[in-house]
Amino acid sequence: MLPNFSDEHEMFRDTLRDFVEREIKPYVLEWEMEGAVPRDLFEQLGELGFLGVRLPTEYGGGGLDFWYTTILIQELMRGGTIGVPVAVMAHAEFATMLISRGGSDRVKEEFLHDATAGKKIGALGVSEPNAGSDVAAISTRAVRDGDDYIVNGSKTFITNGTISDYITTAVRTGGPGYGGISLLVIPADTPGLSRSRLRKIGTHASDTAEIAFEDCRVPADYLLGGENGGFKLIMQGFEGERLVLSIIASMQMRLMSEAARDYGLERKVFGQYLLGFQVWQHRLADVLTKTEAAETLAYRAIDLYVRGEPCDRIVSMAKLFACETALDVARECAQIFGGMSHMEECVMARLYRDSLALTIGAGSSEVMRELIARSSGLVPEK
Ligand SMILES: Cc1cc2nc3c(=O)[nH]c(=O)nc-3n(C[C@H](O)[C@H](O)[C@H](O)COP(=O)(O)OP(=O)(O)OC[C@H]3O[C@@H](n4cnc5c(N)ncnc54)[C@H](O)[C@@H]3O)c2cc1C
Repeated sequence: MLPNFSDEHEMFRDTLRDFVEREIKPYVLEWEMEGAVPRDLFEQLGELGFLGVRLPTEYGGGGLDFWYTTILIQELMRGGTIGVPVAVMAHAEFATMLISRGGSDRVKEEFLHDATAGKKIGALGVSEPNAGSDVAAISTRAVRDGDDYIVNGSKTFITNGTISDYITTAVRTGGPGYGGISLLVIPADTPGLSRSRLRKIGTHASDTAEIAFEDCRVPADYLLGGENGGFKLIMQGFEGERLVLSIIASMQMRLMSEAARDYGLERKVFGQYLLGFQVWQHRLADVLTKTEAAETLAYRAIDLYVRGEPCDRIVSMAKLFACETALDVARECAQIFGGMSHMEECVMARLYRDSLALTIGAGSSEVMRELIARSSGLVPEK
């Protein structure tokens, strides 16, 4: 029976729930307006040990497994905006886990202590204006010059882009294709690096930016996984990222169904509560069923991942199903709110628009289908 949450997991959840209630929920609207979560939040989370959940203990991490990350996401989601878990995960899980996996002792020493303490914030820079789904087509170039690399190019749609202190960046060090890609940690205060915040239709509390590199000089020691060894690391990182998105989407469905239920139990039309109509009971019954199905598939993928078993196919399925279903569920749950679903003050408006990015980030639904088809023998041999 999944998941196997122990007493320790539940204690971790209780501490987080209390923290979210006090330090996140009251401020989310402010952060949504500001377009980013404050640095303080990272420091507070760091002090409580929530940022280094999976990082090694020698660098201040918890050395724990992905079930703890699952709980972390679920409870951060209860804060009321996807923006918070997205910002925290982009730092702790996407940008920093890659340093832990591929960095030399020097890089780990230099970045991981501050990352787990929340004193430094990370971002992951892979997508570019001309290369998103097709990671192997990135063109940001890093050319070796003595003990440094000189980086030129640009990245776009980067979460934590303007608030980050370092960007774990995909760069081209070799020839075309996936074999010429490296990962380089680029400090955000490197001369020649500039960035600007992008305005989005949703996930407002999470900062998203465009980043330009103009003759940025970066120590060659900041390379992760060796020259031209970046693609494999990025692909390994994608497994964790896709699991993160599966849990965010499942939890988003839970929050939307709760909001729809509460509204349906208080709003009357034609003299009757909305949930007095069987049509709405049935529609929300479908929503709850889809939520359970998405969460169960995500848990199955996490179980394989935590046990170190091959899981890329199931992870892709979990990401695809949870994120696509969350969009269906968003539409259903918004409908019960009628006109209120369009009003800024209504929680459903935010839940609805925040659901839109799920099928795009960390590999779009089309890319997930492509991976599932290829790993399921659905592609004819030429
Ligand atoms: C809110 C948000 C936050 C993000 N944060 C980050 C971040 O922190 N770091 C980062 O590096 N990136 C980030 N991204 C970028 C994200 O990873 C890309 O948007 C995504 O990979 C898709 O790339 P693209 O936008 O260039 O679309 P494209 O690759 O141009 O794709 C366009 C369309 O074509 C479809 N498509 C692609 N391949 C195929 C195919 N083989 N067959 C059929 N259709 C296909 C896609 O699914 C999509 O629908 C973020 C994006 C968003 C929206």
